[in-house]
Amino acid sequence: MFIDTHAHLDSPKFDSDREDVIRRAREAGIDTIVNIGFNRETIPTTMGLARQYPFIYAAVGWHPTDAGDMKLEEDLGWIEKLCQDPKVVAIGEIGLDYYWDTPREIQHIVFREQIRLARRIGKPIVIHNRDAHEDVVRILREEKAEEVGGIMHCFSGSWETAKQCLDMNFDISFGGPVTFKNARVPKEVLARVPDDRLLIETDCPYLAPHPHRGKRNESAYVALVAESAAEIKGITIQELAFLTSANARKRLELP
Ligand SMILES: [Zn+2]
Repeated sequence: MFIDTHAHLDSPKFDSDREDVIRRAREAGIDTIVNIGFNRETIPTTMGLARQYPFIYAAVGWHPTDAGDMKLEEDLGWIEKLCQDPKVVAIGEIGLDYYWDTPREIQHIVFREQIRLARRIGKPIVIHNRDAHEDVVRILREEKAEEVGGIMHCFSGSWETAKQCLDMNFDISFGGPVTFKNARVPKEVLARVPDDRLLIETDCPYLAPHPHRGKRNESAYVALVAESAAEIKGITIQELAFLTSANARKRLELP
């Protein structure tokens, strides 16, 4: 009944019990998981999971903090080729990260080139945005990302930024932080995101929701994100599950 639209189940943090983690997700009612491969190491391991499990899909792209490591032409070609695989549903996660110190000019080039690739082959994009709201919105606009649209992953910005992204054909996805008691802004933003543009995710093993905050996250916990989101929206968890799953299926052309 739930879709986890953003997971990193190939992370070494799951090496000791990956099968159990995936089984628990299924038992918690997660019927589809989108795993994200974001650099030279995690793209192959993500593809491996997508090939092994019928209910795991892949997004592949180059993360801004790994931008310095990208061989632009060669790796864009690699991503483009992988996008022909029916299990690859998006390009991502791509974007800007001003928290870490990867040079911004390099991040911009890698971000722009991947948006251009997405437009060329008609794939939605999954956006990572950390402390870079203004530049992310500006580059999405300049590169006409609206044409393919996509997902603002683990959204942490203001309503003003959310509105700009919604207007550019991006859905807004919330993860664990929205469950934290002191998360006033994310809760307010979630309340205002239209029902047909809202998504949920875990970003596991990172960003575990309350009451697991600070511990390893896993896909089963997307149910906790759903619980918070339903409460904020004033609807039942079943309604929330139904509408966010429908949104994810539509956006990513999932079965
Ligand atoms: Zn991620």
